[in-house]
Amino acid sequence: MATLTYLTTTHFDYGAVQKVPSALRRAGISRPFIATDVGVRTAGLVQAVTGTLDKDMPVSLFDGTPGNPTEAAVLKALDQFTSDGCDGVLAIGGGSSMDLGKAVALLSGSGGPLAQYDPLQGGGKLIKSVAPLIAIPTTAGTGSEVSVGFVIIMSDGRKVTFASPHFVPRAAICDPELTFGLPKALTAATGMDAITHCIEAFLTPTINPPADGVALDGLWRGWHALPIAVENGQDRDARWQMMMCSTEGALSFIKGLGAVHAISHAAGRIERLNLHHGTLNAVLLPAVLRFNASVCGEKYKRLGQAMGLSPKADLAEAVSAMNAEIGLPSGLGDMGVEEENIPELVAYSMKDLSAATNPRGATEDGFEAIIRGSL
Ligand SMILES: [Zn+2]
Repeated sequence: MATLTYLTTTHFDYGAVQKVPSALRRAGISRPFIATDVGVRTAGLVQAVTGTLDKDMPVSLFDGTPGNPTEAAVLKALDQFTSDGCDGVLAIGGGSSMDLGKAVALLSGSGGPLAQYDPLQGGGKLIKSVAPLIAIPTTAGTGSEVSVGFVIIMSDGRKVTFASPHFVPRAAICDPELTFGLPKALTAATGMDAITHCIEAFLTPTINPPADGVALDGLWRGWHALPIAVENGQDRDARWQMMMCSTEGALSFIKGLGAVHAISHAAGRIERLNLHHGTLNAVLLPAVLRFNASVCGEKYKRLGQAMGLSPKADLAEAVSAMNAEIGLPSGLGDMGVEEENIPELVAYSMKDLSAATNPRGATEDGFEAIIRGSL
C-alpha cells in the first residue's frame, strides 16, 4: 500500500518576502531566531527579510552557520535561541542555514542530545515537539524549505541525515530575487543538487506517482534553465525556474534519494576538503546513472524526455556534458578526493539513509565501482 503525503504551504514568486510577517503570525512566532550565515548577511539578504517586519519585533540574529552545519554550531545557536527567549526559527540562507535552523527547532522543543533522533536508530519516536520554523531559501538547490530532512555533521564525525514530517517548515517563502547575487559557481553547484534530487527521487523504487510527476516537471524546468541562470544571474525567468526546480526536487524526494546522495554525504564529511554537496552530486551522477541503468530502462526514457534528449542519447553523457558546460569539475579527483579515501567513502555510503532507496541494491563492490568511476 502506498502512503502519499503532501508537505507544506509555499509562497512562491518575486515579492514573496512580503509574506514573511503574515507567515510568522500564522506560525505563532513573535520572537524569531534568525538562522543564517555571514555571506547571506553581508549580501544584504537578511535585511531584505527583516525590513518587512514590524519595527518593534525583537529578533535574535545568528550568522554563525558553517558551510556544512556541525553539531557544535547547532548547540551554540540553541544557547542563543534559549537565552534570547525565542519562540520560533526564521531560517534565511542555503541548505546549511535551513538545516541548522531545523536542528535548533527540534532541540528547543524536544531536548538533546541530537544523536538520539537519528532515524536509522528509530529516533523519530522520541520527538515530542518542534519549534515552528519558516524557511526562506537564498539558493536554488537544497529544497530544504519544503523537505522532511536535515543533515548535520555530528561531534563524533558522522554525517547524519535526520528525517521526520515534524521537520517540514510551517511555511516556505520562495522569492527568486534573493538568488540574484549567487555567483556562477554556486548557481551551477546548487542547481545540479536540485536536478539530482529530481532524478534520484524519480528513480527510487518507492511507489508515489504524484511525486514522480513533480520530479519530472522539476527536472524539465531545471535542465533547461540552469545554463541560462549560470550564464546570466539576472535572468528573471531562469532564476524563477531554478527555484521551482529546487522546491519540486525536495517535494519529490519524499520518496527517498539514492547512491549519489549516499556517497555525497560520505564525501562531505571529509573535513580537510570541505566539499560542496551540489558539486559532489554533479560529479557522482554520471557513474550512478551507469550503475543503475540495468534496472531503470523505462524510467530513463522518461527522464530523457523531460531533459529534451533524443531517444538514443545517453543520460550519463548528457549530465557530464552539462557539468562541463556550466563549469563544474570533471570528477572527484579534480576536487581533491584520493585513492586512499575510497574505503572510508564506501563504508559511510553503505550506512547512509539514501543508500536504502537506490534502485539497484549497492554492495560494497558497487559503491567502490561508482566512486572509482567518478574519480
Ligand atoms: Zn542534495
